Order: sequence, then C-alpha cells, then structure tokens
Amino acid sequence: MDIEKHIAVVKDFPKKGIIFKDISPIFLNPNAFSQLIDELAASVRDLGATKIFAAEARGFLFGAPLSIKLGLPLVPVRKKGKLPRETVEVSYGLEYGTDTLCVHCQDVQPQDKILIFDDILATGGTAKAMCSLAEKLGAEVAGCAFIMELSFLKGRERLNGVEVRSMLIE
Ligand code: 5GP
Repeated sequence: MDIEKHIAVVKDFPKKGIIFKDISPIFLNPNAFSQLIDELAASVRDLGATKIFAAEARGFLFGAPLSIKLGLPLVPVRKKGKLPRETVEVSYGLEYGTDTLCVHCQDVQPQDKILIFDDILATGGTAKAMCSLAEKLGAEVAGCAFIMELSFLKGRERLNGVEVRSMLIE
C-alpha cells in the first residue's frame, strides 16, 4: 500500500528545524489501517518471534492489532514509573538528558524471541534500548520492525546487525 499518503509532514515540530512525520492520519481510515496491519504482519512473520515489544505511546496503537493478527503476546514498553509490577529498566541518551524504558520482568522468559516494534526508527536510541531490555531478561531479539525509517539518521547502524524491517524508508 502507499503508506506515504497517510502520513502528514509537519515542519518545526516539536521544535524548530525538525520535520515531524505524523502517522496518525492512518487511524482516520480504518480500511487503510487494517491493510497496513496485514502488510506489517506479513513482513515480520518469518522472523519467528514469540512475543512483541511495543513502545509507548504510538507503538501501542500498531502493536496491539499486530499482536492479534500474528497471534503473539504483546509486552508494553513504558517510561519509568508507569508499570505497577517488578520491572527491568534501561536508560538511554537523548539530545538533552536521558530517558528510561521499562518492561514487567514476568512478561518475558529466557526462551522468548522478541520482535521489537515502534512506529518510527529515527536515531535508533529507543529501539536499541528495547533490544537491551529483551537481552537483560535473557531473551533473544528476533528483529526490529517499524512503519517508517528515517534513514538519514542512521538508526539501523546502532542496532548491531539485528534484522530490521521497515515498511517505508525515507
Ligand atoms: P529514536 O529513538 O529512533 O531517535 O526515535 C524514535 C522514537 O521517537 C519513536 O518512539 C518515535 O515515535 C519518535 N519519533 C521520532 N521522530 C519522529 C517523527 O518524525 N514522527 C513520529 N511519529 N515519531 C517520531
């Protein structure tokens, strides 16, 4: 499908000089959204994942229907302080400061093969932190999947050779 026509390009958001890709128009078109989930599922099926990690917050919107389509459990990856049970956490650098991502320890077993999912691959910091969370819990990373990859930010290079599937590469 032509995903690009469902993405709005917003200049100077969240700050001056950034061209933000707003993927939310796809949610206004349930037929296109459904087709996107079918194609996303088809693009990752061969990775043999046993669970999906989806990143807060936009990642949840695609991760949930993807988990139903693939018949795989979904593990929410959240910012620090949001998950009620025991968590494992990984901190990663942002342009200014750091951020911390967490998952519930009980949600992952060492035999799991994790599909890392987020809407956009930009610098790769978020996806790399999600890979580290899986590895900290003894699981394997089956691959990483994104709706869109901003290749000029070279995020793929930070993912240490992990299989990357992007539906749209810019
Ligand atoms: P990274 O950690 O790869 O630099 O950034 C990826 C994270 O930032 C993702 O969680 C993604 O949602 C968000 N992000 C970065 N740039 C954009 C963008 O242009 N559009 C959207 N929708 N999200 C972005």
